[in-house]
Amino acid sequence: MFAFGHRKIAGRPRSNLARIALERDFKIYNTLSRSVESIQTKQKGHLTFYSCGPTVYSYAHIGNFRSFVTADLILRTARAIGWNVTYATNITDVGHLTQDDFSDPTGEDRMAKALRSKEGEAFANVWDLARFYSNKLIEDWRILNLVEPTVRPRATEHMREQIAAVQILMDKGHAYETSQGVYFSVTSFPSYGQLSGNTLDNELEQTVRDVVVDSEKRDPRDFALWKKDDKHLMQWYSPWGWGFPGWHIECSAMAMAYLGDEIDLHAGGEDLIFPHHECEIAQSESLTGKPFAKYWVHTRFLQVEGEKMSKSLGNFFTVRDLVAPSSDGGKGIDPLAVRMTLLSGHYRKPFNFTIKTLKGNVKHRERLMEIIQVVGYPINDTRSYEGEFGTALKSIYLRALDAMTDDLNTPTALAALFGGTKMILAKLSALTPAEIHATQSWLADMNDLLGVVHVVEGAALPAQKQEADDLEHAVGVLLIERQQARTDKNWSRADEIRQSLTALGVEVMDTPEGAKWKKIGSL
Ligand code: AMP
Ligand code: ZN
Repeated sequence: MFAFGHRKIAGRPRSNLARIALERDFKIYNTLSRSVESIQTKQKGHLTFYSCGPTVYSYAHIGNFRSFVTADLILRTARAIGWNVTYATNITDVGHLTQDDFSDPTGEDRMAKALRSKEGEAFANVWDLARFYSNKLIEDWRILNLVEPTVRPRATEHMREQIAAVQILMDKGHAYETSQGVYFSVTSFPSYGQLSGNTLDNELEQTVRDVVVDSEKRDPRDFALWKKDDKHLMQWYSPWGWGFPGWHIECSAMAMAYLGDEIDLHAGGEDLIFPHHECEIAQSESLTGKPFAKYWVHTRFLQVEGEKMSKSLGNFFTVRDLVAPSSDGGKGIDPLAVRMTLLSGHYRKPFNFTIKTLKGNVKHRERLMEIIQVVGYPINDTRSYEGEFGTALKSIYLRALDAMTDDLNTPTALAALFGGTKMILAKLSALTPAEIHATQSWLADMNDLLGVVHVVEGAALPAQKQEADDLEHAVGVLLIERQQARTDKNWSRADEIRQSLTALGVEVMDTPEGAKWKKIGSL
């Protein structure tokens, strides 16, 4: 075990889905082998995995979340087939350089740059800024119904591990010091380039061409493990003086600290294949002499309306740009419609996020809410699928599970969800108690697998929650008044009240159990 050993963290309990999920293979595309493989965990039935988190210099955008959602789906799918999962995803809260691929003393530190920006004026210092955006990341994480990881380590809280890792690499002859920093010697690791296919003398050369090079580096391809800088806003004392760690060493050190020297799976966006993950492999395997991660999973980039997201094109969306209420500058969209949209494309294909798809998913969510209004959620009882209707729902769920275990085929899993929704809606007002129970079980199982049915209580932006509370109160008062007007046969007043409800974006359904209402998904 490298350095300080493995920090013990408990895996989460097995999902109760294991009851109905038969043993099955979980297949995933492995960037390292360039093929779809059946995941063989090191420890039977226990998946250990690490996914690269964001640099917290600003709000995370929906592209970042596309990659985080892939990790979330790996976790949910593994649990659905009865595995234990230990899942670590980091927060990069020490700024790395804008041209961080290799040491670039003239590149700008992203966090320092953010602090100097207009938004940065709100923060006392760079630590304050990092804390603020870390908290916002976790808020957005919950709003989009991503499961909390087993552990969410922060780079700044793992400096000891990073410095120790660099020291061991020095001791083993994989790293060397210059007057500007400590570098990993690429030639000391013969399989460097295996993950990305960037062999030592083609793309590698290309990548380094644009960046400023430390003239003392032995090879321009060598990457930084430690940067000496006693003027940096965030600095630590190390055997090489004041400075801060290279970006890549952070993930190696934290993954190994929590998951051990050999982990099952490592995930991130496609831009991380090279250099970040390539460098992680080189460092980690040089440190331990063991294979680092067996499966490497990469999510293709998200674009908006066919174009790269950019603030200047006006197509750059953070989660809150979409879900915050309009009074707060957002679009007031149901967060689970956003999540559904992220799921609507396969993670391995470039994804085009469009308002049209989003609108379609707002409608799908309304249909689900219609069902929930009638059958209730969450389920209080144990899950069961009895009778013909139950059996049909169970097989729809298993179809979704089969799709997810087949390289996270989310479009097929969503098609199963929509098929089941249609089947339930067709007899919603005539469901028997057993069918209601089966429907509740199905909603809960589908939610455990895809996370698009029900968001964990309390996962709302403060303003969003306030707005929802206010609406509930206003609608409650109007419905009582409407009931009174109807009892008094005051039809004109009853009509006025209906108009007020419509103006609030609320649709009322009169049912034998009384008036029910739903918010019409807004865009
Ligand atoms: P960063 O904060 O830039 O390190 O990004 C955090 C995560 O989001 C990484 O896994 C990136 O690969 C991923 N990412 C960044 N932009 C996008 C995008 N447009 N689509 C999908 N993933 C992205
Ligand atoms: Zn990383």
